[in-house]
Amino acid sequence: MKSNHIETLVLHAGIEPDPTTGAIMTPIFQTSTYVQAAPGDHKGYEYARTQNPTRDVLQKNLAALEGTAHGLCFSTGMGAVDACAKLLSPGDEVVSTNDLYGGTYRLFTKIFAQYGIKFHFVDMSDESAVRAVMNEKTKMVWVETPTNPLLRIIDIELMIQIGHEFGSIVVVDNTFASPYLQNPAKMGADIVMHSATKYINGHSDVVMGVLCTSSDELRDRLAFIQNSCGATPGPMDCFLTLRGIKTLHIRMQRHCENGAIVAHWLKNHPKVGEVYWPGFETHPNHAVAKKQMKDFGGMISFTLKDDAIDKALTFLKSTQLFALAESLGGVESLVGHPATMTHASIPKAEREANGLKDSLIRLSVGIEHIDDLIADLEGALAKV
Ligand SMILES: *Cc1c(COP(=O)(O)O)cnc(C)c1O
Repeated sequence: MKSNHIETLVLHAGIEPDPTTGAIMTPIFQTSTYVQAAPGDHKGYEYARTQNPTRDVLQKNLAALEGTAHGLCFSTGMGAVDACAKLLSPGDEVVSTNDLYGGTYRLFTKIFAQYGIKFHFVDMSDESAVRAVMNEKTKMVWVETPTNPLLRIIDIELMIQIGHEFGSIVVVDNTFASPYLQNPAKMGADIVMHSATKYINGHSDVVMGVLCTSSDELRDRLAFIQNSCGATPGPMDCFLTLRGIKTLHIRMQRHCENGAIVAHWLKNHPKVGEVYWPGFETHPNHAVAKKQMKDFGGMISFTLKDDAIDKALTFLKSTQLFALAESLGGVESLVGHPATMTHASIPKAEREANGLKDSLIRLSVGIEHIDDLIADLEGALAKV
């Protein structure tokens, strides 16, 4: 299927009518094994941890969306991060951002650090801070942009350039942007990782991870890890994700449109302090966002003028459309409070040193009617 347009790729890349029936939709191959005519005489499928036709189609589709030769799916986003980290050996070092997804930070520092791998977490929007920790042992540069919850933007091309100067593999966690907004592999990243749980599936009904790469060597090593360690997704989840992907571009357009309106509205509200959204010209990384992203996304964080946990909690209890929940990227709007939810395990002093205030509220702006979203925010702010 030849197209450079994501609008066409989401629907057609890797997807063929079922050869036995002509079914236009990819069947859910709910099977653990495949019958062989004679020992070793099979149709390319032996055991479902190793290969599954529904998963194959999803993997091909995702690879096309990121512009890579290969895609590999995992049972969760963390399963995908774990597989990447298993490319490393004791003594190796990893350079990553200090505003990293909490689950990735926990996996690196609590699990992989035990096996003699060293992690550096630095402000990746500061080139000199990155260069200061790079050395001949750096085997992986782990980028995540936009970051969570402060929506900082890291220059992907610059991180790739620095990583490759040191012969390091560069991985980009592209979850917050989705393949609609940016394609790091097209900029030269070795591996693109997604929690497809978020925008890619987009319907808050599946947990799924993805790795995309154009390197045959990395693909083979990662597929070996995928099969050996076993964090593979079931066919039903692959089917649901394929179904979700078909509207990725339309959902993202609406997330971005609604996000821009909400961000500007919040900025003009008398009870709101800071608004963090990369679309503002005053955002410190706005130029980088404009260079590498198609649009600015539907994730927004903001603080209250009166920066106090109890005021934030009043707001969080008062929204009706914005549901109070972890996660992001689904069609319905969500609201979260990093200080008591996702980032509660980080001590207050450290949170504040990283610029994360007690009243910081994170929105995943959904695709509802914008007037209803604004009315909901207005009503909740009125109670603060
Ligand atoms: C959610 C998330 C993950 C982890 O993915 P799961 O599917 O929850 O395992 C990794 N990175 C980012 C940026 C995420 O938002």
